[in-house]
Amino acid sequence: MQETTTHREVIIVGAGPVGLTLALLLRRAGVDVLVLEAHPGLSRHPKARGVAASSMETYRGLGIEGAVRAASLPSEHVRFFRGDSLVDAAAELITGAADPAEGSANTPSPGALCSQDRLEPVLADAARAAGADLIFGARVTDVAETEHGVEVSVDGGAGLRTLTADWVVGCDGSRSIVRERAGISLSGDQDLGRFLSVRFRAPLGATVRGREATSYFISGGKGGFLAVDNDTEWIYQYPIAEGVDSEALRHDVPRLVGLVRDAAGIPELAVEITDTMLWRMDACVADSFRAGRLLLAGDSAHQTPPTGGHGMNVGIADAQTLAWQLAAVIQGRAGGALLDTYTAERRAVAVAVVARSRGNAGRAYGIEDELLLGTGYAPAPVLPEGAYAPAATPGRRLPHADLDGGGSVLDIEWGRARLLIAGGVARWAEAVGSLAPASHLELPVVSLTEGEWASAALLKRAELAPGEALLVRPDGVVAARAAAAEPVGWLNQALGAMLRR
Ligand SMILES: Cc1cc2nc3c(=O)[nH]c(=O)nc-3n(C[C@H](O)[C@H](O)[C@H](O)COP(=O)(O)OP(=O)(O)OC[C@H]3O[C@@H](n4cnc5c(N)ncnc54)[C@H](O)[C@@H]3O)c2cc1C
Repeated sequence: MQETTTHREVIIVGAGPVGLTLALLLRRAGVDVLVLEAHPGLSRHPKARGVAASSMETYRGLGIEGAVRAASLPSEHVRFFRGDSLVDAAAELITGAADPAEGSANTPSPGALCSQDRLEPVLADAARAAGADLIFGARVTDVAETEHGVEVSVDGGAGLRTLTADWVVGCDGSRSIVRERAGISLSGDQDLGRFLSVRFRAPLGATVRGREATSYFISGGKGGFLAVDNDTEWIYQYPIAEGVDSEALRHDVPRLVGLVRDAAGIPELAVEITDTMLWRMDACVADSFRAGRLLLAGDSAHQTPPTGGHGMNVGIADAQTLAWQLAAVIQGRAGGALLDTYTAERRAVAVAVVARSRGNAGRAYGIEDELLLGTGYAPAPVLPEGAYAPAATPGRRLPHADLDGGGSVLDIEWGRARLLIAGGVARWAEAVGSLAPASHLELPVVSLTEGEWASAALLKRAELAPGEALLVRPDGVVAARAAAAEPVGWLNQALGAMLRR
């Protein structure tokens, strides 16, 4: 295990999609990051595939949306197949979501179907390029908060060693050691179903040609196929009935080959089983996402039934909120109290999305691509009642709107706190300049009526009156909105509330 610096600002445990996204976001904010991953490499066996619009907007900001899209299934494959077998000529094809090629008025970055094993290399390359250190084959065996920070014990294959960090984030999945050592318990229901996921190779491209889909549900309790590339790379999901010895089944290759052939309806299909994974459907949320200097994000903090495809996407949104808060605390712009809002904000969203996903179990198949665009923090509602309706009110994500010159208002100073003005900026720029330098805050002031960021569409969508200002947090959430007669006082108050100073 190679490690040059033993003390880090942040150690992330786990290089799944959430840990890697968090590493990228923290590096972008100038934070020193080390990621420790137990496996010798990235996921070979994808769980998540649906990358929602909210996550694609994050990847847009990070400059990797194109790379994620290039690793995804073509947009016309985003539909669902339901039949008696893969060769069932009478199978039903159900369209799952708006066609990304047609675009959406609500986002510049519609969702994509990108297998986790194809997404993670894109994220890992970008994280390394941004300066994060990633160590694979490094299993964290203990974390303990000390007077000076956190000690992290690591089994790096070549023996145990201890690293230290100011903060440790557990992105280490549902069985998180960070959560356990932090003494944080889970609330909810476990074991709502058991499945065997079989990764296999088979020449099925010609079989599905012309009716390619994302998921192929096979009737008769036979589970279904998930397309990785709609050609030779596939996943077969098999529901495990009560009393079946799942461990024996997962190692019984002839039986697995038989199950795949039967569900495909092709008795002679050449099947090569490459991996198997047993998984359990849980619907749980951690009681807190923080204990002192230990934080949780992703599946360590919430386990969401995959019905709806939200688990990873909620985790990616955790990362976006946690990254700006950690950076603000580490870099002295905010006190540690800011991190208490992390649990308050993200736990409420997780609880609502877990409940929503459980409710999806009996519904028609589909992708709720824009659901998470509507999530909000107090005083905004946590989840929209119906379809996503854009709004620029405090607690909501800044809505997408076209810039007059092309592009999206989401691109304006992405990743930084910013002040958007429905008019000239002089008065506001002066007010920002007068803030105490000790605030360590750089706050770009941007006009929405003139220059490169002008957007008549946002003025309309957000119903901004002339002179109104929007203070937007680094994670894209509207922190405050006002037509301030006295900008300095308003800014001091709004920034103080945003940073919990
Ligand atoms: C069948 C299925 C389909 C799904 N489809 C979707 C979908 O379409 N969209 C969606 O949003 N979500 C989906 N999900 C949920 C999604 O897979 C998870 O929410 C997502 O993988 C969580 O990411 P994560 O990074 O938090 O955790 P994980 O992906 O579980 O990654 C955790 C990482 O931490 C590492 N680790 C664990 N312990 C240690 C340790 N002690 N030391 C070092 N490293 C450690 C692990 O090796 C792993 O690499 C699906 C889940 C399943 C089962």
